[in-house]
Amino acid sequence: MPETGRIAEFHEPMKPFKIREVQVPDPEPGAVVIKIRGSNICGSDLHAWHGRFTTKGLGGQLPTVLGHEMVGTVAKLGDGVAIDSDGQPLNVGDLVAYTYFHMCGRCPNCIRGKRMSCYNLNMAMMSSSEKFPHFVGGYGDYYYIHPGAAIYKVPDDVPWELVAGANCALSQVIYGFHRADLRFGETVVIQGAGGLGLYATAVAKASGADKVIVIDGVRDRLDLAEKFGADELIDITEVTESRERQKLVRKMTGGHNADVVMEVVGQASVIPEGINMLGQFGRYVEIGNISSGQTTDLDPTRLVFPNKSIIGVSLYEPWVLGQAIKFLQRSKDKLPLDKIGSTKFKLEDINSAFDAADKREVIRASIVP
Ligand SMILES: [Zn+2]
Ligand SMILES: [Zn+2]
Repeated sequence: MPETGRIAEFHEPMKPFKIREVQVPDPEPGAVVIKIRGSNICGSDLHAWHGRFTTKGLGGQLPTVLGHEMVGTVAKLGDGVAIDSDGQPLNVGDLVAYTYFHMCGRCPNCIRGKRMSCYNLNMAMMSSSEKFPHFVGGYGDYYYIHPGAAIYKVPDDVPWELVAGANCALSQVIYGFHRADLRFGETVVIQGAGGLGLYATAVAKASGADKVIVIDGVRDRLDLAEKFGADELIDITEVTESRERQKLVRKMTGGHNADVVMEVVGQASVIPEGINMLGQFGRYVEIGNISSGQTTDLDPTRLVFPNKSIIGVSLYEPWVLGQAIKFLQRSKDKLPLDKIGSTKFKLEDINSAFDAADKREVIRASIVP
């Protein structure tokens, strides 16, 4: 009898997921089958659930399996896979982190080292779950890693709960600061203290930022941001006027404004405020806005005269994931990393998990098979 496993199938936006048993595939050469340990609900999973991202008409196929911030153990190794992307031996049973997207390695963008812009890029949540390999997203018992994805063995002293957010949220902000060329001693403003914002706070401090200012409207998140290293907090329920917040940032930065502002709220309306919080030659890192159709008014002279730039960042170069795992290993005893993704839901309770995540009742929910 063939071995089977469950997937939580996503058929239609805002409709309940359907749990279905499908056959666990045998990996093709270069591929790996993963036994999922946990898969978070990230903002983009929520966007997809609402029908604003990766669904039909936006490049994806339905039904599919959502979930991409995930971690698991090696269940089956395809021919030719004996080491991870860091050169370490890889065996069945090893806990691993991996990119949720895979690249062809031979198209013009792959050749130019811009692999996350691969012409043939494929990623979790985009393929039909009715076809091989069925396990096309994180909300299931297994996940199929195609040839061409990066895979990193997780050190024994790092628990899986800390790693689930590594391949999306954490790698995304590390790469965002890399793209913005964040330098030692610079000042950073982070708009939003959800999972991305908390990681961003810690990464900015670890990169040598002199001061990190975090803006949010939820007190618990701001308190947590402080534990992740934030030097200053701005609560938008207390400082309700944008002008006042801008003044506050200017004061907190000794009149210079910030060198880097990172947007991880996902609302276009916060962009002009963030750009105004930048000083001369400031870099605005745009990560959060992934649902199309939102617009904002922007006076371009605010970019031109002060030599400011906006850097849009989607996905990351695969090597970043290796750095993310090392960052987690050296930070795990210093930061409350377990607070990100701390609420666990069983796979069969995925509908209540999405409800809770959608109402922002939890910082990050984890679906555990
Ligand atoms: Zn994500
Ligand atoms: Zn390519």
